[in-house]
Amino acid sequence: MTQYPDIQLFIDGQWRKTVDSLPVVNPADETVIGATPVAARADLDDALSAAASGFKVWSMTSPAERAAVMLRAAAIMRERIDEIAHAITLEHGKPFLQARLEVIRGCEFFEWDAGEAVRTYGRVIPSKPGIRYVVVHQPIGTVAAFSPWNFPMSQPARKVAGALAAGCSIILKASEETPAGAMHIARALQDAGLPAGVLNLVFGVPSEISSYIIPHSQTRLVAFTGSTAVGKHLTEIAARHMKPVLMELGGHAPVIVCDDADPVAAGRLSATRKARNAGQVCTSPTRFFVHESRFAAFRDSFVERARSVVVGNGMDAATEMGPLANHRRIEALETLVADARQKGAKILAGGDRIKNSGYFFPVTVLAEAPDDARAMYEEPFGPLAIINPVASLDEAIEKANALPFGLAAYAFTDSAANVEELTQRVEAGNLSINTLEASVAETPFGGVKESGYGREGGAEGLSHYTIVKTVSHKMKYA
Ligand code: NAD
Repeated sequence: MTQYPDIQLFIDGQWRKTVDSLPVVNPADETVIGATPVAARADLDDALSAAASGFKVWSMTSPAERAAVMLRAAAIMRERIDEIAHAITLEHGKPFLQARLEVIRGCEFFEWDAGEAVRTYGRVIPSKPGIRYVVVHQPIGTVAAFSPWNFPMSQPARKVAGALAAGCSIILKASEETPAGAMHIARALQDAGLPAGVLNLVFGVPSEISSYIIPHSQTRLVAFTGSTAVGKHLTEIAARHMKPVLMELGGHAPVIVCDDADPVAAGRLSATRKARNAGQVCTSPTRFFVHESRFAAFRDSFVERARSVVVGNGMDAATEMGPLANHRRIEALETLVADARQKGAKILAGGDRIKNSGYFFPVTVLAEAPDDARAMYEEPFGPLAIINPVASLDEAIEKANALPFGLAAYAFTDSAANVEELTQRVEAGNLSINTLEASVAETPFGGVKESGYGREGGAEGLSHYTIVKTVSHKMKYA
């Protein structure tokens, strides 16, 4: 297997080293495995001017040709899947098989958006004779995109695919802690024939980069995935310069287990899903509201599966859950567990860091936590679940909606009436019934309330990357 890659900036079609760099740490053993280059102001200026010339070329490239480049890049990444997945496991910690699935998911975003590229239809509005009203969708311009560390390849893939399909150029600031996935995307697009300047990849000090490129006149859209706090901050910068934003922010997903659900199967499935990506997923199921008639069986099934999850180095074939991606997550989970313990919650599984070297933390199950326990309203972004009993569907929905978040929500039920009630009342951008999958490439994904603005994926996904232009054409003006 290849070594961890040499990470560089990618500006105007060229790879570039920098003077300054940041260490990349393997969270499974805390060793330094590589270095992320830190962009200087001159690099950002070069990226902005490259994005300007890249936009001129790409916006005038036919949608079919844009789609062809994207599909070639996706095919290249599928060929390189093991190399990319290996780098992701080293820098992020997730099990190799999950890293492979992430690469496939990222490729699916490219393939779906390539299909959408040729379908950004406008319309002709019926009018009186002698004049024609035509609505066209045009690429918005250069996108400033910021992707996080939890999915090093599929998160940047989502933003790059949307921008490229619409005909935009893009400056992507990917995560400094997990840079390899984004670098592989740039490499594949270069090999697929993407013109220089269309995609520019930078790393560095996040606040320095965002505060410089968002206000810049070249930037026309800000696309961010990360915490609600940072999303609000970037939205404020964008608002000062009247720039639109696409914000995919935090969540605290509720799971409602109804009185007709199979508690044992739902409990097992839920614990397995909680372990995915070590819970570092904005849609990770976290607050379980279980009908009291199903509570004991669901809780016991969940706890049994949680305790059986094999935690270890992501390169070991038996590992089901790797370490947390960074030390901040360990501290956050320890704080939430201590607070819940002090407020009277029962800790039924996990709760303590399990190894001295590496950021390992087990699947942790809290039960009967009071509403004022911090874990009930702060996104754990780690393998922590809270299971509480409820007396009715009405109570469950009230509790599900009680937080300012509204990203993913889930329910287990076979009742069409329950599904209708949930559909009407649950405040979330994505509601999944009898499955804990919140989004696929062909469905729109995004939040309500403080979970963000806008949608990625689906037929809606490209709309943020385009502007609507109305052309009124009078046949004679004399
Ligand atoms: P953080 O809030 O410091 O950073 C979150 C992301 O925003 C990182 O990728 C970071 O590089 C970026 N960022 C931070 N400040 C920025 C700035 N001024 N300009 C541009 N980008 C900036 O927290 P963290 O410790 O990295 O992550 C913890 C929290 O972030 C989690 O609790 C979770 O809520 C959230 N998060 C959400 C997602 C998601 O998929 N929605 C992904 C990663 C992290």
